[in-house]
Amino acid sequence: MAAAPELTQADQLAALEAQVATCTKCRLHETRSRTVFGVGSPTADLMFVGEAPGFHEDRQGIPFVGQAGKLLDKLLGGIGLTRDDVYIANVLKSRPPGNRDPQLDEISACEGWLFRQIAIIQPTIVATLGNFATKLLSGKPLGITRVHGVEQPTTVGGSRVLLYPLYHPAAALYTPAMLKVLEQDFARIPELLGGDEPAIEPVVVEAVHEPAVQLSIF
Ligand code: SF4
Repeated sequence: MAAAPELTQADQLAALEAQVATCTKCRLHETRSRTVFGVGSPTADLMFVGEAPGFHEDRQGIPFVGQAGKLLDKLLGGIGLTRDDVYIANVLKSRPPGNRDPQLDEISACEGWLFRQIAIIQPTIVATLGNFATKLLSGKPLGITRVHGVEQPTTVGGSRVLLYPLYHPAAALYTPAMLKVLEQDFARIPELLGGDEPAIEPVVVEAVHEPAVQLSIF
């Protein structure tokens, strides 16, 4: 009898996404509109991990679709990449009400989904965006202002990756100095991926009129 064909990474992610869509492992399932699993290439070398879905993400089911998402797209463009070249996900797959901070039991309940995403995609670099993702995946209490832009080999849910902490784009939207640092940290990504280091292209951020996400991401 012929062996069953191996599932592709895309197949495995699709199966996992279907499981996440019905997840009731923590209280956040009661208030979400839909889960926000992740988007991008199932074979990406570079994966971004943010904190949790916000208002727009909860409505659309796609991570980073607000102003912070537009900035992330511009930062990617600055190093010659698009969303299709990378994978983008969050620690939590359901939105905390009012964009409040994730609670420890919610992170514990949800982190297994993220670890399985990483195990399937097998990225070389996991770039954490902001404090929550950085502290969770590094396993260390050091905040993002101490560790941004410093790569650290680590094991995440059984997968060996190069962790690369970055400021959260939502934080940089409102703080020009932080945006500068974020651009500089982004500019090192091609080098970390094994390519050439490009000149830093300044990112133009338009006026923002939507509320900021909570300060915890800083
Ligand atoms: S946040 Fe995570 S663990 Fe909680 S219900 Fe959503 S998918 Fe499940």
